[in-house]
Amino acid sequence: MTFVDEATEILPELVALRRLLHGAPEVGLVLPETQAAVLDALDGLELEITLGSGTTSVTAVLRGARPGPTVLLRGDMDALPVVELTGLEYASTNQNMHACGHDLHVAGLVGAARLLAARRQSLAGNVVFMFQPGEEGDGGAKVMLDEGLLDASGEKPAAAYAIHVVPGPRGVFTTRPGTIMAGANELQVIVHGAGGHGSKPQMSRDPVPVVAELVTALQTYVTRRFDVFDPIVLTVTQLAAGAASNVIPDRASLGATVRTLSAATHAQLREELPDFVESIAAAHGCTATTTFITQYPVTVNHAVETEAAISHLRGVFGENRVQRAEQPVMGSEDFSFVLQEVPGTFIFLMASPPEVDPATAEYNHSPRVLFDDEVLADQAAALAELAWSHLGSDR
Ligand SMILES: [Zn+2]
Repeated sequence: MTFVDEATEILPELVALRRLLHGAPEVGLVLPETQAAVLDALDGLELEITLGSGTTSVTAVLRGARPGPTVLLRGDMDALPVVELTGLEYASTNQNMHACGHDLHVAGLVGAARLLAARRQSLAGNVVFMFQPGEEGDGGAKVMLDEGLLDASGEKPAAAYAIHVVPGPRGVFTTRPGTIMAGANELQVIVHGAGGHGSKPQMSRDPVPVVAELVTALQTYVTRRFDVFDPIVLTVTQLAAGAASNVIPDRASLGATVRTLSAATHAQLREELPDFVESIAAAHGCTATTTFITQYPVTVNHAVETEAAISHLRGVFGENRVQRAEQPVMGSEDFSFVLQEVPGTFIFLMASPPEVDPATAEYNHSPRVLFDDEVLADQAAALAELAWSHLGSDR
């Protein structure tokens, strides 16, 4: 039997787990009910389980009967503070919603753990199952890395994979080598001047024109100093200064979101932005402090691992069910932190129900988005196959 056959056999149990999670979604880094459901679903499998200390993460290690490398498989577990409007019979019973499909990710990863645990005797190496809370902005993956995720099996994983559901024709995988999702950064600038009377600017150091100049200078900077084919979106979203119309304030501030598609542009921004901002402030007799916070790095798929994953999955699911994405997605992912450390691949799995037109389907994070849990067999089998492609011997 293939992993696909075995996954199809356990599909009803995976669907039941997904629907249980869907009805009781939890948000953030602490998901006690979700963690309990995961532990319950893994009960009885030969796994070494470690729980997060700062969060409700679950790290489960499957040790193959023979030595070999380690492969990491990840499923994120958190929901969103969205009130569900799908009308599904198993819809959320609280104010949160699994509107990004992470309930499927949990069930799919449990499925992969069951499929691989059943083949433990023929596994040459180890599999680390990463059940991660806090993907939606809390950087749960980073917390797990800081708590020793990559040492879970005793050696650093040789490869890492994650599959994320999105609307689209059910059962079609899509990925690409290189950048698959954007990096998200926050720029905060405080310009320090010297306040005074609004009628006597020459007696003060006015920080207000400096932030005004920065709004436009930053736009010119991103168009003049970077390759147009490696784009950056820099949007100033916050401005603050002053409390009275006749008083020049001591300071003024600016906040912006900065989206990047490559590690190179991210590094350049990090390096150049403080000098750029401080030089403009200095030109007006002010000083500036610049904070450039990387929320999530660019998600970069490893070229060799991704080509291998595409060809392996095409061998399993057929050529036309595994597509090559032409462009990255401008959203962000904290699996990027894992891919900075381990060569691997982030893959999308399309999961619209057959009655929904993929062209007009509601997208992730919508209160009306629908994901068909029939894809759980594909998700579980694909994750197991990707691990097996590194560790499997006889089948
Ligand atoms: Zn998501």
